[in-house]
Amino acid sequence: MVDRVSTGTNRSLDAVQQPCVRDRLERMDLEATGSAAALVDSSRRIVVLTGAGVSTDSGIPDFRGPDGLWTRDPDAEKYSSIAYYLADPEIRRRAWQHRLTNPAWTATPNPGHDALVDLERSGRLELLVTQNIDGLHVRAGNDPSGVVEVHGTIRSARCVSCDWRGPMADVLDRVRAGEPDPSCEVCGGVVKSATVFFGESLDPEDLRRSFDAAARCDLLVCIGTSLQVYPVADMVPTALRSGARLIIVNAEVTPYDDAADVVVRGSISEVLPKLFA
Ligand SMILES: [Zn+2]
Repeated sequence: MVDRVSTGTNRSLDAVQQPCVRDRLERMDLEATGSAAALVDSSRRIVVLTGAGVSTDSGIPDFRGPDGLWTRDPDAEKYSSIAYYLADPEIRRRAWQHRLTNPAWTATPNPGHDALVDLERSGRLELLVTQNIDGLHVRAGNDPSGVVEVHGTIRSARCVSCDWRGPMADVLDRVRAGEPDPSCEVCGGVVKSATVFFGESLDPEDLRRSFDAAARCDLLVCIGTSLQVYPVADMVPTALRSGARLIIVNAEVTPYDDAADVVVRGSISEVLPKLFA
């Protein structure tokens, strides 16, 4: 049995002024990382669930965080709401302008992404499920057939009427060439990013693969996710019911910390190479 090690939140770490207390927290973080690495080493069927925290060190802000899009532009949430998007051409025009400048176009994978490629190469990664839409796991080198992007990807575009799909880069070229709200070239319908908007359903096949993998794994590692977005967060109780161990790597407290074998609070791009390399 691996000892449960929790180190408090990064927020409290930032607030700590006395060096002795900070040193103690850093020691606890090292201890938690070591316990997590031992658990990874002894596991054979590993499922990983990632969220926004994996990509922040690639320069992609969590859109709910202090520097996030939704915080800076209160209207921005409407760009990802299917009801607003379909009803209002002005929302679509502004959404296309935002897509032109999405940080995903210039972001590169960080050592956290690279460590998950190493895990795949070790032959023990059953499935990588991500809530991120930036496509950075595949860009880092994970096999696309072993990655489920449950909230879709901004790297593809989709027609809401005929389900045409194509590269987002091609549609963004049309926006740059002067089409403020490019329509589907097949049927004339509304085009959006191939991401799951508020008011849209997640792909049932994606969910089936994710939950099947969670039920079969011997270790579930949740990284950079608040575990508060459902149904994906239900992968955790699914895995635990099947007897899997649980590692959580996240800056903030999650609802499943008490159920985890190890909780690590440290920097994701520093911690993951120690777990998976
Ligand atoms: Zn169409």
